Amino acid sequence: MSVRRVRVELPDTAYDVLIGSGLLDEVGPLVRGVTRARCAALVSDENVAERYAIRVDVSLARSGFRVSSLTVPPGESSKEWSLAGELLEALAAKGLSRDDIVVALGGGVTGDLVGFVSAVYLRGIDLVQVPTTLLAMVDSSVGGKTAVDLPAGKNLVGAFKQPLLVVADVDTLKTLPDEEWRSGLAEVAKTAMLSGEEMLSWMEGNARRLLDRDPDAVIEAVERCVAFKAGVVAADERESGPRECLNYGHTLGHAIEKVAGYGRFTHGAAVAEGMRFASRVAVQLAGADVSFVRRQDRLLDALGLGALEVALPTAVLHDAMRSDKKARGGEVRMVLVSEPGTWSCVAVERAVIDEHLEAWAGTKSEGEGA
Ligand code: ADP
Ligand code: ZN
Repeated sequence: MSVRRVRVELPDTAYDVLIGSGLLDEVGPLVRGVTRARCAALVSDENVAERYAIRVDVSLARSGFRVSSLTVPPGESSKEWSLAGELLEALAAKGLSRDDIVVALGGGVTGDLVGFVSAVYLRGIDLVQVPTTLLAMVDSSVGGKTAVDLPAGKNLVGAFKQPLLVVADVDTLKTLPDEEWRSGLAEVAKTAMLSGEEMLSWMEGNARRLLDRDPDAVIEAVERCVAFKAGVVAADERESGPRECLNYGHTLGHAIEKVAGYGRFTHGAAVAEGMRFASRVAVQLAGADVSFVRRQDRLLDALGLGALEVALPTAVLHDAMRSDKKARGGEVRMVLVSEPGTWSCVAVERAVIDEHLEAWAGTKSEGEGA
């Protein structure tokens, strides 16, 4: 079985992202290849632990690590500040030292939480990421962003923490709930739009295989996304320039998640809706062709990411868009894609946002006080 290797090169460090089948049983030797640590803390959420932790635990132990397995409850609530504190206490109680290593096994929530904890425990301890959701494989495990939530908002506390290694075993994706699968596909579609004609055509030709989780298509999609993100992050480790493109679809997407209430829609479903919205704004402001809007709509439809049936108050959505982290001086800034692979980050006037939000709301069914 071939393993794909994508190298992430940053100014101060570099690491490999390995993508393949059967890699969970290889985590021990792979981690041994990057560290001389004696102890490894293996952290996962309960859903992932019951399915996969044993294999990783055994593999690490066979490679000579003294393993401490820790679990957190599944779901976004695990990114609470208090849980980060509990995890830090647990690492201390297990006696983990500066030379030891933390292995994060799970989705984006686990990766964010464990990444953050490893960034601050003893001012930083080595980290290996073993993502088990499509979203985490294609997005959160590359780039080094970690975060926990505060009652005041999501991801308000965080740190940059680059892992020593990322091991993506695509076999784990077989047990992912359908909704989570499609959520990850939205980020793959986002990458295709940003990457260019070649990847976009590939995705259009393989949409069915991706929806069916065909292993070869999945490996290829993950590799393409990781390679794209590695390139972006290498050019812009801390986000100000090129990295902004990764927010395509996220301005309205984040607003929908927040206004509808977190958890009502998956992240990817909200981002797909945000991409549909952004493409229409791009026709007006970035010279995108209407046929390109249709093309993106068709791709999202084919991936099981149909337009959301949701009626949300447009004024509240607009406010949420203005509190987005890209906004400057109260003006909404959006990533607009004008053709495959060509994007810009554009300040959009209030009136234009209002007009498009009204048009968008007009396509939704009545109800919920829109
Ligand atoms: P994401 O990666 O989408 O940010 P989470 O880390 O919250 O999100 O994972 C989404 C959900 O899927 C969680 O309930 C988690 O326990 C579960 N999960 C993660 N990986 C797997 C897997 N490989 N198989 C089944 N369930 C999984
Ligand atoms: Zn995202």
